Amino acid sequence: MVKPTYNLPESDSSDDAAITHWLERLADHYPADELHLIAAACAVLTRYRGNRQIETGETHVRHVLSTADILVRLRMDSETLIAALLNGCLDQGDLRESELVNGFGAGIVRMVGDLARIGQIANVDAIIADKDQLEHEENLRRLLLGIAEDVRVVLVVLAERVHLMRAIKDLEPGRRTKIARDTQRIYAPLANRLGIWQVKWELEDLSLRYLQPDEYRRIASLLSERREEREQYIAAVMAMLRDKFAEAGIAAEITGRPKHLFSIWKKMRRKAVAIEEIFDLRAVRILVQTVADCYAALGLIHGLWKHIPKEFDDYIATPKNNFYQSLHTAVVGPEDKPLEVQIRTHDMHRHAEFGVAAHWAYKESKGHDAEFQRRVVWMRNWLELKNEGDDASGFLARFKSEFEPVHIYVLTPQSKVVELPKGATPLDFAYAIHSEIGNCCRGARVNGRIVPLNYTLSSGEKVEILTQKHAAPSRDWLSPHQGYLITARARNRVRQWFKQRDFDQHLQDGRSALERELGRLGIPDKPHLDDLAPKFNYRRGEDLLVAIGCGDLAVGQVARQVGEPRIEAPKEPELRIRPPQKHRNNPLASLKAGSGDVVVEGVGDLMTQMAQCCKPVPFDDIVGFVTRGRGVTVHRRNCGNLRHLPPAEAERLINVRWANQPNHAIYPVDLLVVATDRKGLLRDVSSVFSDEDVDVTGVNTHSEKSTDSANMRFTVEIRDMTQLERLMTKLQQIPDVLEVRRAG
Ligand code: AMP
Ligand code: MG
Repeated sequence: MVKPTYNLPESDSSDDAAITHWLERLADHYPADELHLIAAACAVLTRYRGNRQIETGETHVRHVLSTADILVRLRMDSETLIAALLNGCLDQGDLRESELVNGFGAGIVRMVGDLARIGQIANVDAIIADKDQLEHEENLRRLLLGIAEDVRVVLVVLAERVHLMRAIKDLEPGRRTKIARDTQRIYAPLANRLGIWQVKWELEDLSLRYLQPDEYRRIASLLSERREEREQYIAAVMAMLRDKFAEAGIAAEITGRPKHLFSIWKKMRRKAVAIEEIFDLRAVRILVQTVADCYAALGLIHGLWKHIPKEFDDYIATPKNNFYQSLHTAVVGPEDKPLEVQIRTHDMHRHAEFGVAAHWAYKESKGHDAEFQRRVVWMRNWLELKNEGDDASGFLARFKSEFEPVHIYVLTPQSKVVELPKGATPLDFAYAIHSEIGNCCRGARVNGRIVPLNYTLSSGEKVEILTQKHAAPSRDWLSPHQGYLITARARNRVRQWFKQRDFDQHLQDGRSALERELGRLGIPDKPHLDDLAPKFNYRRGEDLLVAIGCGDLAVGQVARQVGEPRIEAPKEPELRIRPPQKHRNNPLASLKAGSGDVVVEGVGDLMTQMAQCCKPVPFDDIVGFVTRGRGVTVHRRNCGNLRHLPPAEAERLINVRWANQPNHAIYPVDLLVVATDRKGLLRDVSSVFSDEDVDVTGVNTHSEKSTDSANMRFTVEIRDMTQLERLMTKLQQIPDVLEVRRAG
């Protein structure tokens, strides 16, 4: 295939002469303005890399010139050639990127940058330990596609590989083997996946030659014919078939190839057969319009040459499992040499090449993910279009965003490839390596330069994380605006870290808050935390303390579950709210609860008054207390003041009940609302009161800093129990309200 466009002058002639000669040859292939730029690239090349030698013993100039020449043979555009020529020139001497951009455009310079990064990786992969080899190779393959935003970069890399393989004959054997193995495992499969067969076969044959020289020689001698002879044979067959199909009036596209050495060697081993039993050593393929044409073509072929019966397969009538369709036959061709003929429609061919049946998909049984496949298909489509001379750049623009890689591939200092989503930062990288490295991350170096931790990584960059022993994550890392982390894994790790740390802190805070509160309320009982926890829907006592510590739970609420308060909470400074004006005019407001509402048993109509401490409302469970001279005070039966009456006083208690029809009086009630403090809380509470048309005559609020909770005491005017209950339910429903109860 890729023969040089001409024979490069012997190495004793100067690089300049080689360049001049090469440029002259290009005149037929590229328009004048492009030739001008190619020549300019050559000038940069000699100026900045003129005297370099590479490991094969060639000058750098010869190396890139040969690479560019292979690209010419692959019919690549001038931009690709220029990128290949400038490869290695970036940041050489006083040449700056901006200069190159001015001279050649940003697109080409980006390709040159990609090439530099790939070159760097390709060279360091030598130090990978054997056990990581397979994973590394797969990653490197992805990396090559991942770095190259532009498929043309991959083409340059492959062309360079072809030239390198041609040039390593005299290298030290160990190094040569290493290069050949990489070629066989990474570059040839890549060429295969991209469908660049001319590159693939040469890479495979040359690898075999260096990795298994005896086998290579054995197969070569079995073949008796040299490659050129076999190529000429195929060319002659194709020319003849083109005539025959034209005569028969069947539109057909005919291709062909001699089977390459590596493929022969593999097939002989796989099928354990002699070379005589391989019928596709020489092969042609005929693409036609319709299925009917397929069979017509088959008839034509079988009419021309005697066919070998057991070599006929009709995969059109019986497709393969992967839906591959084609007619396969083998005939005794010209000079009595076996010839394989494949016949299929263009549709079947497209499916075979790009669909699920794509060649590489069943020839390489290794796993591959959807994104990678998509990208390969995209690149192959692009290459196809280019060959057909369509508007490939339009296609590129149209599909670029759709098929843009969603992953990047970066390297550890040991050159292990790490896959990250696009946009990932050094911090994401650190967490991808190990969460401890993430937690202790203090800085990062990318390609040797210190970068901020929210720097956006690109494929091919080498990342080194700087850690500090007792460093800890920062809350900022979780802020989406600051762009420190884009991977869910890393964010989770950071959250986890804080959770663990906060747990310890909250546990301590919760414990001391509860102790303080118990002391303040004079509750002597020792809390049984594990028994208490389920009452608040927590599993263990520790969780309960953490809930108190982080403010999820009001400490007062828990304390009261532990035991009875002995001491009234100290009075808080008062905040008086005036009742709304309209209630001032409410005739009911002046009619205070009192006589007539309550019947004192066995006594009749005694003067009664509602106790100020517990403020009973019809039809609370009530009890009367006979005062000295002020009649009977009506208390709620569970009023705290009555509970510890000395025996002498207890005798003054008397049964009372509500009158059947109480006056339409209003009763003052004290309500206690405990809530997690927040902005707008009081406003929400007030709006419930006004919705319920309830007057508020007194307010006491008190925030507890340690638990972030608000204790609010309201004195409200209530008409009856129904209204009170509805009011309490509504208050309970306000977000962050933990507890609503009547005081007293
Ligand atoms: P193989 O050696 O059979 O693995 O094929 C190597 C390359 O030759 C691939 O690009 C195939 O698509 C191509 N090829 C295989 N068979 C034929 C054929 N009958 N005619 C033309 N090309 C073929
Ligand atoms: Mg075959």
